[in-house]
Amino acid sequence: MATCYVLFGSNLGEKDRIFMQACLLINNRCGRIVGLSAAYASEPWGFEAEEWFLNRVIVLETDLAPEALLHELLAIERELGRVRHPEVQGYSSRTADLDILYYDDRIIQAEALTVPHPRLHLRRFALVPMCDVAPELVHPVLQRTQAELLQRCHDDSVVRKIAETNVGK
Ligand code: AMP
Repeated sequence: MATCYVLFGSNLGEKDRIFMQACLLINNRCGRIVGLSAAYASEPWGFEAEEWFLNRVIVLETDLAPEALLHELLAIERELGRVRHPEVQGYSSRTADLDILYYDDRIIQAEALTVPHPRLHLRRFALVPMCDVAPELVHPVLQRTQAELLQRCHDDSVVRKIAETNVGK
């Protein structure tokens, strides 16, 4: 059984409802959700968009191997209505994005999967919710806790707490 931290992001549609659906599907197919960060509204990062993102970290206990977990999460993203636009380079709006931030303390560099997520330490919208659920968790490559990574992060984009409800570890 592995403990994983998955970042949910959405800036299209009914974001709360999409988050609840994502949790139901993840619980059914990937393992057991044992914790959730607070909900955060975050400024679009790297591109212009009207809608801010809803970001939350999901703590998941799973028996799936990392690649199998990624496969399920990508299928769930598709079911939640994400349409990929191959003609759009870089970042774009999305109904649901599910990124594996950590998988236990594993370091994985495969073609389709890099864990820890290669950009998580650069993004406040990942580090702020991570600090809700596991501030002392040590990044296995950078050898710093989430709280230390947040303190050292140069990203100055806005990440605002929306609600305290359903926060858990
Ligand atoms: P994006 O749409 O920007 O979230 O990128 C999704 C793609 O990134 C997936 O198809 C994965 O193959 C790849 N990827 C690499 N590392 C990760 C990770 N840690 N979590 C989720 N996707 C990843």
